[in-house]
Amino acid sequence: MNSDSQSNAANQANNHNVLDSEIQKFSQHAANWWDESGPLKTLHQVNPVRMDWIQQHVELTNKKVLDVGCGGGILTEAFAKAGADAVGVDMAEQSVQVARAHAHENLLSIEYCVQTAEQLALERPAAFDVIACMEMLEHVPDPAAVIQACAQLLKPQGLAFFSTLNRHPLAFGLGVVAAEYVLNWIPKGTHQYSTFIKPSELAGFVRQAGFDVLAISGIGYQPFGGSKSPFKLTKNTDVNYMILARKR
Ligand code: SAH
Repeated sequence: MNSDSQSNAANQANNHNVLDSEIQKFSQHAANWWDESGPLKTLHQVNPVRMDWIQQHVELTNKKVLDVGCGGGILTEAFAKAGADAVGVDMAEQSVQVARAHAHENLLSIEYCVQTAEQLALERPAAFDVIACMEMLEHVPDPAAVIQACAQLLKPQGLAFFSTLNRHPLAFGLGVVAAEYVLNWIPKGTHQYSTFIKPSELAGFVRQAGFDVLAISGIGYQPFGGSKSPFKLTKNTDVNYMILARKR
């Protein structure tokens, strides 16, 4: 067993907030993380849009930035390219291996670990200036516990960016039925509607964990927008949205 396998096994044993079925789902696509027209293409398309929003709120140069549920490192690499000292954690070991290899090939210095946010919080409290936890909370049984761990991981006044899908009928129509079954943008079975989180619920978890909510933005679909990404920032949070929170 290598050290990642050991820490992975230890994490799963110690941490009840990991769904093996979800981890396997993402592991299955690990080799395709960097295929921009593959099963994870919507994350590639949405990446410049969410980076734009993040950079409207924080200057990343020389900041210690953590990406929770980093997958193959699509967002983590964008942080490193923006000058951040970036760390990524994910419980899918194959994805972390892909992330490491891709960063290495692209001469980016990024630390990747097979770990949960909860475990890292015990080891590195108050270590980060900025945390992103995007498109991940809907894949864990207890999203509030992940948010709580993010609060522990941040320095006072540190910023957290959370994104997820809204438990709104439109998110079911567009995020599940259209994206998975009609347009085949993402693999069937990626999302379960019941795990989606309403903005008011996410804001509640965030405040409960000791954050103030600073801003919220929707991510909208604009098929004929003419720009490179078919997504854009919007006030409408019915489908996919992000919350910016500051640790008190
Ligand atoms: N945040 C990335 C990837 C989103 S996909 C992005 O937006 O580009 C969701 C990721 O969460 C997957 O890589 C999956 O392996 C990871 N994940 C699911 N449960 C997790 C947990 N409990 N701890 C850490 N990562 C987890």
